[in-house]
Amino acid sequence: MQLGRGGMAHCPFHGTDQHPSMKLYPNGFKCFTCNEHGDVTDLVAKLRGLPPVDAARELNNRYCLGLTIGQAATPQERAQQRLEAEKRRKRRELTQAFKEWEVHAWRVLSEYYRSLTRWKEQYAPQTLEELNSPSVFYLEANKKEYIAYLLDILDGDSQMQKVRLFQTHRDEVRNFEQRLQKL
Ligand SMILES: [Zn+2]
Repeated sequence: MQLGRGGMAHCPFHGTDQHPSMKLYPNGFKCFTCNEHGDVTDLVAKLRGLPPVDAARELNNRYCLGLTIGQAATPQERAQQRLEAEKRRKRRELTQAFKEWEVHAWRVLSEYYRSLTRWKEQYAPQTLEELNSPSVFYLEANKKEYIAYLLDILDGDSQMQKVRLFQTHRDEVRNFEQRLQKL
C-alpha cells in the first residue's frame, strides 16, 4: 500500500479508488468513502483474507512482539513462545553490540599492532635488572603475530568467527585499549 500526503492511501476495499480516501493512523485505518475501518490487525486480516486471530499471529511473528494470542496456546506453548521471543531479543542485542564493537576493535587492534614494533625497541632491556623483569610493553611486543591473527579474523568473511571473537575477546581488546591510553 502506497502512503501519500497526510497518511492517505488508496483504499483496497472498495472499487477503484481514484483519490486516496483511506487515512492511516499510527494504530489503525479508516476509509472515508466505504467506511472500512479498524486497527492494524483488522487491516492485515482484511487485506490477506485471514481471520483476525491469524492476522494477529502473523504480526506477532513478523515483528517479534512475543505476544500470546488466542486461547489455543497451552501453558507449555506460552512458555515456549516466551523462550523464543527472549532468544530473538538476545540475538538482536548481541548483533547490535557486535556491530558497535567491530569497528572500534579494529581500530584498537591496529593501533596496538603498530605500537608493538615501537615498544620492542623503546622498552628493550638495557640493564641486567631490566632483563630480569622486562617491561610489560617489551613483553607485549611478542604478541605481534597474535594481534595480526585477531585482525585477520576481523578482516575476514566469516561473520560467525567475528561474532565469536567478540564474545571471547571483548575483555582482552578492552585491556589493550587501556594500555594504549596509559601511554
Ligand atoms: Zn474504501
